[in-house]
Amino acid sequence: MKKVYLETFGCQMNVSDSERVATVLADKGFEVTPDELSADIVLLNTCSVREKAEHKLYARVGRMRKSRQVMPMVGVMGCVAQLEGETLFNKIEGLDFVIGTRAIGRVAEAIEKVYDGNRAVTDLGDREKDYDWSVSDPQRHSRYVAFVPIIEGCNKFCTYCIVPFSRGREESLPASEIVRHVLELRRSGVKEVHLIGQNVNSYRPTNESGLETFPGATPFSRLLRAVAATGIERIKFNTSFPRDFHADIIDAINENKNLCNWVHLPVQSGSDRVLKRMKRGHTIESYFKKIDKLKDSHRDLALTTDIIVGFPGESEADFMETVRAVEYCGFDSAYIFKYSPRPGTPAFTMDDDVSPGEKKLRFLELEKVQKRSQQNRLQRYIGNTIEVLAERVSARSEDDLTGHSTCHKLVNFRGSQEMLGNVVNVRIREIRTNSLFGEFVKGKG
Ligand code: SAM
Ligand code: SF4
Repeated sequence: MKKVYLETFGCQMNVSDSERVATVLADKGFEVTPDELSADIVLLNTCSVREKAEHKLYARVGRMRKSRQVMPMVGVMGCVAQLEGETLFNKIEGLDFVIGTRAIGRVAEAIEKVYDGNRAVTDLGDREKDYDWSVSDPQRHSRYVAFVPIIEGCNKFCTYCIVPFSRGREESLPASEIVRHVLELRRSGVKEVHLIGQNVNSYRPTNESGLETFPGATPFSRLLRAVAATGIERIKFNTSFPRDFHADIIDAINENKNLCNWVHLPVQSGSDRVLKRMKRGHTIESYFKKIDKLKDSHRDLALTTDIIVGFPGESEADFMETVRAVEYCGFDSAYIFKYSPRPGTPAFTMDDDVSPGEKKLRFLELEKVQKRSQQNRLQRYIGNTIEVLAERVSARSEDDLTGHSTCHKLVNFRGSQEMLGNVVNVRIREIRTNSLFGEFVKGKG
């Protein structure tokens, strides 16, 4: 039996793609192994959102070449594969095959072709009409948490972003299929599903199938209600696009307890001038209005965001507006990135006039501001009891379990293994850098 080692870089969609590739490979008689050194085939699932992510791939194969006496078969899939295609064979010595983002259903065929003696095997083709989006239980990243893609691709073309080029146009999966998928996951013991896509709230299926009886102004809020009606314990969704984030989504959350207390809404910048150059489609005022509405909810919603600092033309005054936006919104957490020029995007041709040193300074400054407000927000948990899904034994201590709260905080707590897979009450005792620590308490706190 040939052994395959799969390594994943990048976002949740890549993790989800890898889970499906592993499912198909196991079905076709390959052994999916966590041990790279014994693998006959190494498959790297790549990210190209920032330049650094792409460099990681080249360095990774270089390291492999040094550590192995006999090179395994090497394949590259994901965004770098889609963008670079056959040119990767010139850039990476020892590469055997390249699989594009929508061709991942045919990885086994590519491997067979290489075994048959074909060289530089490339498949950048489209997804099969009957593509199977399901993941077998052993290939899921967690026994109790599952990613469910609802939309792929992106039509927004923010000027800095490579995703519309690497992932193609938006295509929504039928709601009836998504609901069937969630029901199956529920039956197999999954407690929390994450509806995923580059912009989940741009969800627009070609027909009503599965949404007929659910109210709401947009298909996404109706989908949320349809998924909530499956009775699955918890539903999270990620990422939401600010321009398409309407009040009906908040209504759906307010009315369904299993829609979790977490919204990820990337603001990118606090300056209208920069937002316009980024072609984000929102102003900071319109964004603040959405944040105000989210804060008005009777649910204690955790808000998280993405921010880019040092976008071409970002002045000190623009940056200060981002600082003010972070202070105003009081995010529970924020992913802050230094702008990274991506060839082929409109911003690549803009004058990247913020020096690397200045980008770094702005990054550190914003991180400081965010950490401060994050600490303030987290303080409110001290002494409180929150519901946590016990997902696994902690890597640090066998006496501790790790899981997430409904507001998507990572929580470590003293607990025993029988609790795994259950939502339990945890009284929070300590705030750590990126997590909370507490202890199990019986009943409601
Ligand atoms: N679709 C989501 C949205 O528009 O809000 C974001 C998806 S994108 C893959 C994830 C994050 O990567 C973005 O929100 C942005 O902050 C960051 N990002 C994308 N392109 C970038 C670039 N060229 N340089 C730095 N960060 C970038
Ligand atoms: Fe990239 Fe913008 Fe699409 Fe998000 S919405 S994936 S940032 S182009």
